[in-house]
Amino acid sequence: MKDTYHREINYLRVSVTDRCNLRCIYCMPPEGVQWLPHEDILQLEEIEAVVKAAALIGVKKVRLTGGEPLLRRGLTDLVRNIADIPGIDDISLTTNGLLLASWARQLKESGVKRVNISLDTLQSDRYREITRNGNLDGVRQGIEASFEHGLLPVKINTVVIRGFNDDEVLAMAGLTLKRPLHIRFIELMPIGPSNSWTTGRFVPAEEIMSIINTRLGQLVPAKISAGNGPAQYYRINDAPGTIGFITSMSEHFCRSCNRLRLTASGSLRPCLYDGREVDLKTPLREGAGLNEIGDLILKAVALKPDRHHMLDGWQDRRGMSQIGG
Ligand code: SAM
Ligand code: SF4
Repeated sequence: MKDTYHREINYLRVSVTDRCNLRCIYCMPPEGVQWLPHEDILQLEEIEAVVKAAALIGVKKVRLTGGEPLLRRGLTDLVRNIADIPGIDDISLTTNGLLLASWARQLKESGVKRVNISLDTLQSDRYREITRNGNLDGVRQGIEASFEHGLLPVKINTVVIRGFNDDEVLAMAGLTLKRPLHIRFIELMPIGPSNSWTTGRFVPAEEIMSIINTRLGQLVPAKISAGNGPAQYYRINDAPGTIGFITSMSEHFCRSCNRLRLTASGSLRPCLYDGREVDLKTPLREGAGLNEIGDLILKAVALKPDRHHMLDGWQDRRGMSQIGG
């Protein structure tokens, strides 16, 4: 299906829970956020119905996220059922990796092809600080389990924050010289709690590229085998891994945006930045069929703006964990 700006929309990011076992400082306030009551969260069958309706009108790729998706009970059953939906040819997962070591095998068997693991630092004490008490060893084990069980390619999402982890750019990028890891540097977005302190913390991708070019080696454009998301990838020499940049702020990639987001509470959000959402939960609970849900999905697609205006300010009080990252 095409939107008003002739973009092909074929990718649905599904937030399966708003809950999380971490409290990353740029994503949640220290006290955490109020979890949604159970009855407000889409049931697994309801998520499946939305994916079925979306597949009928052209969605091919699904990414499961949250909150922390591995906290959702029945996740592998959901994956298995989504994998059976005709037209869906790619299922991936974004996770903080803490529970991944226990789930990697079952995720692979149920139909997840690959994972993105969020990791902002290689230092245990910093990890504890930025996640407010997370254990870095758990993530390391999750990364190894992803390799072991073939959840490939393994991509690492690193949000770069000035004065916090910008001194680790070379260490993170250097991992790609040794292993087939795909390190993606993400620009900090003024969303949620980070809204108030983004100024001064923001590091443009261009600056990171320049540090890597001068101190680690020349970045040469590269392609990676799976996923055609917003990152631009590079490689140093014949390194097994790649280095990606997600320039949400400094150079938006809205022109090639192909995605919709389904929030944990069952609304379709056409654009991360844009607060407009289309409620699917109420119609689903009132018995709407797949065609009706498909029409509502098309309504959401028609609302997709040409681009975000995050630099002009962030209207939504919720953070990424609540909207669905
Ligand atoms: N809990 C999972 C995780 O951390 O991977 C999935 C959800 S999380 C909201 C998805 C991604 O959003 C993470 O990679 C996280 O770093 C990123 N994120 C959250 N808040 C952000 C912000 N203000 N700017 C940039 N990225 C952000
Ligand atoms: Fe949880 Fe992911 Fe947000 Fe961190 S970034 S608090 S892991 S949802």
